[in-house]
Amino acid sequence: MKLPLAYYGDPILRVKCSQVKEINDDIRQLVNDMIETLEEYKGAGLAAPQVHRDLALFMTFAPVRDPENPEKWLKPRLRVFINPKIISYSKDESVWGQGCLSIPKIFGDVRRPFTIVVTATDLDGNSFTEEFSDYEAQAVMHENDHINGVLFIDRLEMRERKKLEPQLRELKKKYDLIRKSEAKK
Ligand SMILES: [Zn+2]
Repeated sequence: MKLPLAYYGDPILRVKCSQVKEINDDIRQLVNDMIETLEEYKGAGLAAPQVHRDLALFMTFAPVRDPENPEKWLKPRLRVFINPKIISYSKDESVWGQGCLSIPKIFGDVRRPFTIVVTATDLDGNSFTEEFSDYEAQAVMHENDHINGVLFIDRLEMRERKKLEPQLRELKKKYDLIRKSEAKK
């Protein structure tokens, strides 16, 4: 089932999310629904607070480079992260244009480490520690920010953020109205 998204201005997007205590049917259902939602919106990742759930859980669907031919990108792969923690960041950085399903039509460049090491639990309850680079690392850091109440617009350079401020105010106004009318129902 496709889930309704939380949009910019929704307080759930600013919550530091709670740890997942147990991988039960509720969590498995949530992950399935989130995958469906992600496919529907053609995103590169989705975090639980973006579907109104206060849980440290997200998934990425990011293309990876062909190890045989680094110029070539392979199809995106789906990865699920439960209770993730980024345990190391590379010194080398890269700048990527970012967008977010919760902040429609807003884009900006964010500078972040190129490679990270993450420890997390998968949907089968197995913990893993793995290195991610490139596009996929950017997606993981973007989603990991979400479960800590951080949005990519917080990481823009001041000048770029200022430029987007009027659009962000409009977005918030629009979604505040929608939220109000939904709360009345
Ligand atoms: Zn996002």
